[in-house]
Amino acid sequence: MSGLDEKLQSIYAEVLSRNPGEQEFHQAVREVLGSLGPVVVKHPEYVEAAVLDRLCEPERQIIFRVPWVDDSGQIQLNRGFRVQFNSALGPFKGGLRFHPSVYLGTIKFLSFEQIFKNSLTGMPIGGAKGGSDFDPKGRSDAEVMRFCQSLMTELGRHVGEYLDVPAGDIGVGAREIGYLFGQYKRMTNSYESGVLTGKGLTWGGSQVRKEATGYGTVYFVNEMLKAHGQSFDGKRVVVSGSGNVAIYAIEKVHQLGGTVVACSDSAGYVVDEKGIDLEILKDIKETRRLRIEEYADLRGGAAKFVADQPVWDVPCDIALPSATQNELSGAHAATLVKNGCRVVGEGANMPTTPDGVRVFREAGVRFAPGKAANAGGVATSALEMQQNASRDSWTFEYTENRLAEIMCGIHDRCAETAEEYGSPGDYIAGANIAGFTRVADAMLAMGVI
Ligand code: GLU
Repeated sequence: MSGLDEKLQSIYAEVLSRNPGEQEFHQAVREVLGSLGPVVVKHPEYVEAAVLDRLCEPERQIIFRVPWVDDSGQIQLNRGFRVQFNSALGPFKGGLRFHPSVYLGTIKFLSFEQIFKNSLTGMPIGGAKGGSDFDPKGRSDAEVMRFCQSLMTELGRHVGEYLDVPAGDIGVGAREIGYLFGQYKRMTNSYESGVLTGKGLTWGGSQVRKEATGYGTVYFVNEMLKAHGQSFDGKRVVVSGSGNVAIYAIEKVHQLGGTVVACSDSAGYVVDEKGIDLEILKDIKETRRLRIEEYADLRGGAAKFVADQPVWDVPCDIALPSATQNELSGAHAATLVKNGCRVVGEGANMPTTPDGVRVFREAGVRFAPGKAANAGGVATSALEMQQNASRDSWTFEYTENRLAEIMCGIHDRCAETAEEYGSPGDYIAGANIAGFTRVADAMLAMGVI
């Protein structure tokens, strides 16, 4: 617990004892508290009103049974979660993750991160996250539908346009949001568009939502580059993952003149020196739901698949970890630095381990934390909520301009806040402090709740 002042240390100790065994949640809290030393000195009112203590305890946590019937008629059982962490700024907002590794600690860490991320967007949304240990891999559409219907049958009583607005995350895309929305609509007998985001374009969804997290991450990194008189033009980029975030990060890097030479999935990575071919990647991942290994076959001799090795072995100027939490360790960071990587932007939530962050810091690598860099997804969800509330539907161009403005705003807020609190250039401090103070001020204004 070194490095934290006494008050912050006691808050962290309390979090450890109230949430035993939830390692990622402890890590996420420790990371935020690590930036708040100068804030509690400058603002003793936050400590007096126990804002931090209250902020580290979710407002509500829901755990429920999700039974469903598979295609062979067998009854299957999963566990569903929704952690409604903080609603000081607006209705709870955050995605649903379907992955076999999901447990309460995963959802709690993601929900905690979401509070600060959502705050940084400047939009009226609180922080939440949910999900299940359900594994959609290898399941038929009909099985996924029955699972989603069962999950929503319970979750439905806890969500709503003014209460809690879920969206997608790992394992939850347009298909799942469709099944979830269909069940909610049937349960409530009303067309409450604003209850979920990431909907299809013909039934209340927003342009750019699908692209938003990846595009937003690249916009953020582009602002970091601009601050040093640089750009993506001619840069060699490595992206981990090959899901929604990775695909659209690659697309935007290519639009801005950089070349993404590698991406990955949990089985390995592909290197394509001419730049990842997005048409092939989208076909494999979005249409056919195949492994990344297939990419190398479809590209013939132009690309190589490397099994069971980290994509961080591939030399690059800029790394965009866009797969999952703690995927980039201290050793990976050291390899990246040795091979010349100077800029990192987190497309995923907390993909870099604390050791990895330390290595980057010591090497002077410019580092954009996920809660700032990947906030474009949830920001565009908030734009979807705006369109739903006003029964409107914006063009791609208008929506993308809004996203770009929001990402520039987040970048500038992080940079200015870091400067104000004595850590110029430290986007981690900037993001944590700027995200925290907006929530803390709202909590102060609302009294002890
Ligand atoms: N799951 C995404 C995130 O990590 C998006 C959440 C949302 O759109 O509500 O921010």
